[in-house]
Amino acid sequence: MPSVYNWQLGRTMEYPYEETHPRWQFAFVFNINRCIACQTCTMACKSTWTFSRGQEYMYWNNVESKPFGGYPHNWDAKLLNMLEAANPGGQRWSGAGDKSSEAPLGTFNGKTIFEAVDKHYDETGPKRALGYLPTDEEWTSPNIHEETAIGDMWRDRTWGGSTQLPEHKVWFFYLQRLCNHCTYPGCLAACPRGAIYKRPEDGVVLIDQKRCQGYRKCVEACPYKKAMYRPTTGTSEKCVACYPRLEGKDPRLSPNGEPIETRCMTSCPGRIRLQGLVPITDDGKWQADRWNPLYYLVRERKIALPLYPQFGTEPNGYYIPPRWVPRPYLTQMFGPGVQDAINQYACPDRELLNVLQLFRTTQQIIFRYEVIEGEKVAEIEVTMPDGTRKTQEIFNDTVIGFNKFNIECVRTTVEEPTYERPAALHVNSI
Ligand code: SF4
Ligand code: SF4
Repeated sequence: MPSVYNWQLGRTMEYPYEETHPRWQFAFVFNINRCIACQTCTMACKSTWTFSRGQEYMYWNNVESKPFGGYPHNWDAKLLNMLEAANPGGQRWSGAGDKSSEAPLGTFNGKTIFEAVDKHYDETGPKRALGYLPTDEEWTSPNIHEETAIGDMWRDRTWGGSTQLPEHKVWFFYLQRLCNHCTYPGCLAACPRGAIYKRPEDGVVLIDQKRCQGYRKCVEACPYKKAMYRPTTGTSEKCVACYPRLEGKDPRLSPNGEPIETRCMTSCPGRIRLQGLVPITDDGKWQADRWNPLYYLVRERKIALPLYPQFGTEPNGYYIPPRWVPRPYLTQMFGPGVQDAINQYACPDRELLNVLQLFRTTQQIIFRYEVIEGEKVAEIEVTMPDGTRKTQEIFNDTVIGFNKFNIECVRTTVEEPTYERPAALHVNSI
């Protein structure tokens, strides 16, 4: 099997195909701390793409409550157990990660889904990735166990200590999920028809509906279970990253061809989402560009981390982990960079605070940002996750986002502007 470089694992790994890379890569950052689980994103996607017969249980975007929720049920626990069974005790990371190196998150020494599979033949050829096919029942109740917490509140009969940072005793959190348009997709690796492809212009992973024969190998091999089978057409379908919007083809939104964020991103009232396109070098690296907000958050600051990087697909969705959740749970989910990311988020410095303001401020994709420094407006004492105290200075800076054509598309300040209504009597009216 060819060997490819996976920067999230800090090492090369086996993959069925040689490395080829797109010129740009669709990517996104979700700030879990801000999500209110309103499911607006879920319905924005569903009402756009999956409202027809045979798609009743198909949610390309979903928001599930962890640790118990999952769509399909227990998708992650099942695969993690399979990986552990294939490599007992060996699914471990080493090294703290050197931020400036090509192994910034440390090195994963265990087996990925491509390395752990027993490469035996089945009816369609050699197996390419470890996975399983969920049952029909596992696709039902997409928001099962919504807001069901875990913890020891009944053991000591106290409630008061349960909501103390750095880790709540009783906790749950929302996990927002869609196809990660992976660099090394499991779905693409497993398809015996060669029906799945990754677009060279933006890294979006698509299923050619004419070539697909509905073998469901992609459903089995996608570790995130984001390829789904549609019985009415006998084919598999998946998130298409709203590619007409990425291409700037909607004349109402992009009169001059400006790339627009996907429906799930632009509809988010919690302002947790920032989507972008990152330039990729010929040898597959993220091109260093610290003024691209995605590059800044993921590669420069490492405050946003990949979901289950150990699966090995190099997913292009990144998460700012929730502050209140026990670290061992977060570390098995986002890798060893969790504590560093939370430390940065707990007391963001001046530039980070500016970039965090850009989330969900414009429908256009931001390719570059700029900061105009403002005056100091506050100084607050922050308790850090390790219990130490830190002083945070707040400056009312202005952050400006620019679109693909280097034209300003958003301008906002750190302090939200407030307006005081005049004292005159206002009668409510419609
Ligand atoms: S729309 Fe935003 S806040 Fe609402 S559930 Fe989706 S990600 Fe969370
Ligand atoms: S998340 Fe799944 S469906 Fe999407 S590209 Fe990765 S392997 Fe394929």
